[in-house]
Amino acid sequence: MQEKVYNHSYLKNINRLNILECVYTNEDVNRNYISLKTGLTGAAVTKIITSLIQDKFLTEETYFSEKRKRKARYLKLSEKEYGVVVIHISRGQVSAAVLELNGRILVLDEYGYNFHLMDDKLFIEIIDNIMKTFPESMKCLGCVFITPGIVVSHKNERKSQTPYYWDFDTLKNYIKNKYFIKVVCGNDSNIALLGERWFGKAKNEKNSVLYNIGKGIGAAAFVNNKLLEGYNNSSIEIGHTTIDFQGPECSCGNKGCLELYIGKENWEKRLRNKENYKEVPNLVETLFFQASQNNQTALKEIIEYANLVSYGAITLANMFSPSTIILTTNGADYYNLDLIVSIIEKEVNKSLYTKKLEGEPIKVVASSLRSKGYLLGGLVVTLLANF
Ligand SMILES: [Zn+2]
Repeated sequence: MQEKVYNHSYLKNINRLNILECVYTNEDVNRNYISLKTGLTGAAVTKIITSLIQDKFLTEETYFSEKRKRKARYLKLSEKEYGVVVIHISRGQVSAAVLELNGRILVLDEYGYNFHLMDDKLFIEIIDNIMKTFPESMKCLGCVFITPGIVVSHKNERKSQTPYYWDFDTLKNYIKNKYFIKVVCGNDSNIALLGERWFGKAKNEKNSVLYNIGKGIGAAAFVNNKLLEGYNNSSIEIGHTTIDFQGPECSCGNKGCLELYIGKENWEKRLRNKENYKEVPNLVETLFFQASQNNQTALKEIIEYANLVSYGAITLANMFSPSTIILTTNGADYYNLDLIVSIIEKEVNKSLYTKKLEGEPIKVVASSLRSKGYLLGGLVVTLLANF
C-alpha cells in the first residue's frame, strides 16, 4: 500500500475505486444509485463506468432485482477476467491462494511451518507452485504478501532479534522478473479490516475497528473512511499496551502487556496452572467446544477471558470512536466468538467515555469471514495497487 501522489490523475482513480467499492459492498447497484451514493454527477458516473466495463472489471446486465423490486440494468463484477495471488504468512502456517475478482477462492494451499523455518527459498517454492495453478485464461492483477507485525525486509539487520529470515525485496524482484506482475506487502490486521470493509461486517461503515485476537493480538482502524497506516505499514499494536503496571515483563520491553493475558499461548499457560486443566490436550480448543455445549465450568473460563479481552476493546473504542468493532482471530479459527462478543459489547458501552456524552452505543460483532478475511483483504489490496 504505497503512498500515492495527490494529483489530478489520482483523484480520477479514487473515483474509479469508490465506484468499484460501491459495487462490491451493495447488492444490485445501478448508475443512479452510485451517483447518489458517491455524489458524482450522472455524466461522471457514466464515463467512469464505461471505462470500468471496457477494462473488464465490471459488466452490466438487465434483470429483476428482488432487493430493489424492479427490473433495471445492474452492475456486476466481471467473472473469469482477473485474479490475484495471495500469500498469507501467519505464526505456524503459510496459505497460498488464487482468488477471482469477486472473491471466489479458486485454489488454496496450506503449509504448516514455524516462523523460524520460513525463508526466501521456501517462499519461492510456494510462489512457483501457486503460479502453476493460476488459470491461463485470466489476467493476474498481482501478488500480495500478508504478514503479522511490522512488514520489513531488512533481513540482515533484524535477523538476530526477530524470527523473519526472509527478505521482501528479494521475493518481489524474483516475482516481478519471472511473472511480470505487481507485488505488494501488508500487515495482517490492516488487510483483514480491508477484507471486512469490502466483503464483511465493515461494509458501508465510515468508522470501524478490527480487533484481532488469537495467537497474536492486533487491531486496525478505518477513521472517516481512511485506513490508518503507521510507519512501515504497521497497524495498531493494541497487544502491547499495558493493562497491569505490576505485571510481568513482555518481550517488547513493557510490563503487563495485554497480549501476556489474552494471547492464546499465554492464556493457555495460565489455565494450566489450575489442577483440573494440567493434562487436557488442546486446552483452549476444548474449552471453546465445551462452552458451546453449555458446559458451565468451561463457560465460566470463557466469560473470564472475554472480560480480559474487553480491556483492549475499551481502549480501541476510546481511541478511535468507531461505530462498529469487528472481532476476528488469527491462528484460532476454533474460537467461538459468538460466546464472547455480547460480553465485550456490554463492557465497552458501560465504560465508554463518549457514551457518557450521549453518543450512540458501539456495536461489537463477530467476523463472519475469519481466516478467509485475510485472503479477501489481500484481493482488495492488490486491486488498490492497480488503481
Ligand atoms: Zn509487549
